[in-house]
Amino acid sequence: MTPPYLSHSQVETLTDCGEKYRLGRVVGVPEAPAFWNAGGRAVHAAAEYFERQRFTAVTPSIDDAVDEFHRVFEHELVEAESAWYRANSVDPNAAFQPVPWRAANRGTEDDAWWREHGAGMVRAYVLQSEDDQTELAATPDGQPAVEVEFLVTIAGVPFKGFIDQVRRLPAKRDRLILRDLKAGKRTPTSTVQLGEYGVSLEQVWPNSVGYERMFGEYYMCRTAKTTARISLAETHPRAHVEYAIATAWFLKNGGLFLPRPSAFCKSCAVSAFCSYQGGARAHEVPAPTPPRIG
Ligand code: SF4
Repeated sequence: MTPPYLSHSQVETLTDCGEKYRLGRVVGVPEAPAFWNAGGRAVHAAAEYFERQRFTAVTPSIDDAVDEFHRVFEHELVEAESAWYRANSVDPNAAFQPVPWRAANRGTEDDAWWREHGAGMVRAYVLQSEDDQTELAATPDGQPAVEVEFLVTIAGVPFKGFIDQVRRLPAKRDRLILRDLKAGKRTPTSTVQLGEYGVSLEQVWPNSVGYERMFGEYYMCRTAKTTARISLAETHPRAHVEYAIATAWFLKNGGLFLPRPSAFCKSCAVSAFCSYQGGARAHEVPAPTPPRIG
């Protein structure tokens, strides 16, 4: 059930709440879909579309990018609902059963909110791109460096992911800037994801600049601003990245899933199955078993 590799989101979940990882990835309970996931993917897709087109010198219009957002968003909604029905073995001919969509900001950021504000994020993305001092980098084979996929080995652990964008300053071509787009309200409290991606990119592009010449930043889609640009090697020394990934691998393969109830439980995708939060369906899943001592 669990994939034979780690990703940033797995490392984060394993360390944020092990029970969430166990329920979602090991037991495999159906996760309630979230509008923010569908909206975030659609914003990412529109930004990717815009950057790919612009890289080939055919800059799309704002309307084209917004159309791409709407196309992907509607597709994501349908996919998420279908996946929910499949996972819950709902008979399509049975009486209508509502999908337990999760909406952020006390339920206000629903599908209608995302249609309006997600489109606004895409418009703002296109407008800010005209003033962006950086440019999209090319991959070693000359392709636009968006959604750069990698599967590498870090500290002996298979590690997989996608880097939203790799950029550079035209005047400083011996440096790379890894940019990750965030469509949520909160700025991430940690930049370790960028460090993980930098260590990975160094392996995928071995003849490009090394980790020591990589920088990172988040682009916050709601404000159309980037966070402070950091030196990855100074902020996240390679040894720290390796240690965190190796430790997460140990937790995953050792079955060490430490539950951590917190304020985030209310938006947790598997809370219905969580015995620590009195989930209504907790009796349907095996209880956690203590690890063997010694
Ligand atoms: S509801 Fe809270 S404690 Fe339970 S799995 Fe989710 S985050 Fe962890």
